[in-house]
Amino acid sequence: MRVFVTGGAGYIGSVVAEVLLARGHAVSVYDDLSEGHRDAVPDGARLLEGDLLDRARLDAALRETRPEAVVHMAARCQVGESMVNPAAYYRVNLLGGLTLLDAMRAAGVTRLVFSSTAAVYGEPAKQPIEEDDATAPSNPYGETKLAFERALDWYGQAYGVRAVSLRYFNAAGASPRAGERHDPETHLIPIVLQAAAGRRGAVTIFGDDYPTRDGTCLRDYVHALDLAEAHALAMAALADGAPSAAYNLGCGGDGFTVREVIDTAARVTGRSIPVSVGARRPGDPATLVAASTRIRRALGWRPRHAALDDIIRSAWTWMTSR
Ligand code: UDP
Repeated sequence: MRVFVTGGAGYIGSVVAEVLLARGHAVSVYDDLSEGHRDAVPDGARLLEGDLLDRARLDAALRETRPEAVVHMAARCQVGESMVNPAAYYRVNLLGGLTLLDAMRAAGVTRLVFSSTAAVYGEPAKQPIEEDDATAPSNPYGETKLAFERALDWYGQAYGVRAVSLRYFNAAGASPRAGERHDPETHLIPIVLQAAAGRRGAVTIFGDDYPTRDGTCLRDYVHALDLAEAHALAMAALADGAPSAAYNLGCGGDGFTVREVIDTAARVTGRSIPVSVGARRPGDPATLVAASTRIRRALGWRPRHAALDDIIRSAWTWMTSR
């Protein structure tokens, strides 16, 4: 299949591109390289540089590549940044997404896999979270992702676009060739590993007075390769005529607290990791754990790298090999 991957030079996007190529798909990456990296785009994928908000450029890129499906991953993705700069999130995540949808309509592309997020649920009333639970985002990041999901519902009814929204829990880990590389880095696992490698000072734990088993926030970490696999399965299902759907994408189970991530990283790397406790980060829910029964049943998805040791080891191997 010819697939158009927006954000394919980014962390998860480049792993998705790699997995789609390995399955024989023809992959075009559309990315403005504002967060992504040219060298993260795998060999064999074609890179088209462009802004999501540039409709003329998008039209030309779709005309040139004639995709049968789009995987939309280009977005801003930091909870903390979204609290202080919501305008950037509305502009890129919502306006950019709608620009892409309009360009897809004009080009006659009707299949979309969308990178959504567990942040659509906000501070959930129960755990693990199911797809039909209430959505009430506690930050502009989740709010803009949810707004786009809802646009997909209406566009689907009116224009026949079929979309699978994948609500990622905490993406983590690396493939042998691509890993997490944000500048500045804000995500927990790469920060912890940078501290282990002596590339930064103490890790600040953002609050240890949450109602969790050790007071630190609890998350459901899912390996980038398992996320990528879900995109390939969603694309195949859409090609087989599957209806639009939203799926949680997390490993479920008990999840891991910030302290458990730090302790596991210390054990896996054999290094000591300096830690200090700071204030809560605005916008952070205490606990986010997925019920992933729906995607397991509907798409046959199974996480193959659910062990936190494996996730952290893959990220450490990638980071220290660069
Ligand atoms: N976190 C932390 N210190 C850091 C970075 C993150 O304590 O330097 C916490 C953060 O508050 C959250 C968890 O680690 O509870 C995961 O944060 P991350 O930014 O990696 O992902 P998010 O859950 O925001 O998608």
